[in-house]
Amino acid sequence: MTAPPRRILCIGECMAELAPLDAPGDYRLGFAGDSFNTAWYLRQLRPGLEVDYLSAIGGDAISDRMARFMADAGIGTAHVARVPGRSVGMYMISLSAGERSFSYWRDTSAARLLAEDPAALDRAMSGADLVYFSGITLAILSEAARDRLLHALRAARGQGATIAFDPNLRPRLWRGSAEMCAAIMQGATVSDVVLPSFEDEAAYFGDADPRATADRYAAAGARSVVVKNGPDPVHVLHDGRHQEVVVAPVPRVVDTTSAGDSFNAGVLVDWGSPLPMAKRIERAAAVTAQVIGGKGALVPLDKTPLSNDW
Ligand code: ADP
Repeated sequence: MTAPPRRILCIGECMAELAPLDAPGDYRLGFAGDSFNTAWYLRQLRPGLEVDYLSAIGGDAISDRMARFMADAGIGTAHVARVPGRSVGMYMISLSAGERSFSYWRDTSAARLLAEDPAALDRAMSGADLVYFSGITLAILSEAARDRLLHALRAARGQGATIAFDPNLRPRLWRGSAEMCAAIMQGATVSDVVLPSFEDEAAYFGDADPRATADRYAAAGARSVVVKNGPDPVHVLHDGRHQEVVVAPVPRVVDTTSAGDSFNAGVLVDWGSPLPMAKRIERAAAVTAQVIGGKGALVPLDKTPLSNDW
């Protein structure tokens, strides 16, 4: 891709979120999920960008609300399939002494059926300049559906789309870490850009340092690897060149939910523009600084560090 993307397709699961309010037993209903969060931030960053979501939801009232939420955020829902008899997944946040924990109900969510129809996958991907998916997208699928999705991604790449992948390692969604690691590396083989987080990669792949993470994904076929590492420098391998990009300190970190998801949006929104990689990473970190300075997965950005400078 030699110009910034005009149409981006994000693939995965959006869930209903129950977030606690001040009074015990009171919760607010929201909608979030890793690849969906990235879609939401992409639209925040560049409202003119066409962003579609590929997923599946049910035919019930909460599925209707989710579809409306997506559309209201400017995210295209033409590729969000309806599965009668199923509903959306849900998670609830619990707070105990300031620590957050999560309970999930997603085992039978409609999104698990997002890759049942190969023709629908091809239709959604055709005309997308960039297609984004994650390790969670792969984790929720059956083996056959995962193969269908990877096949469609490979075909889209062959037709010129840039494929971007965040491994987002979640061992609890897999039968074991061996199955997870094998599937993640398969995901990398169809990807141009891989956006891992070092802490997780070190834990499950045993990488000694971020450079080792970048080399491993490059060996699998990625042209660019952007290794996030919390407040530590981002390690980038791009066109064969390694570099470290320092991220500005964030004075008050309130909630790191969506740090990686929003960072990915900041990196991908102008992928292919002539902007130097270091500059792009710094801008992505500035986006994420706003996100982790606020509460929740979807934090409205009050200023965007992007400008039309390509
Ligand atoms: P993930 O949410 O995928 O685990 P990271 O925690 O590695 O991702 O963070 C992604 C990005 O968020 C980092 O590259 C950095 O820009 C920013 N970030 C995360 N935590 C901090 C922090 N404590 N201070 C400053 N920036 C942070």
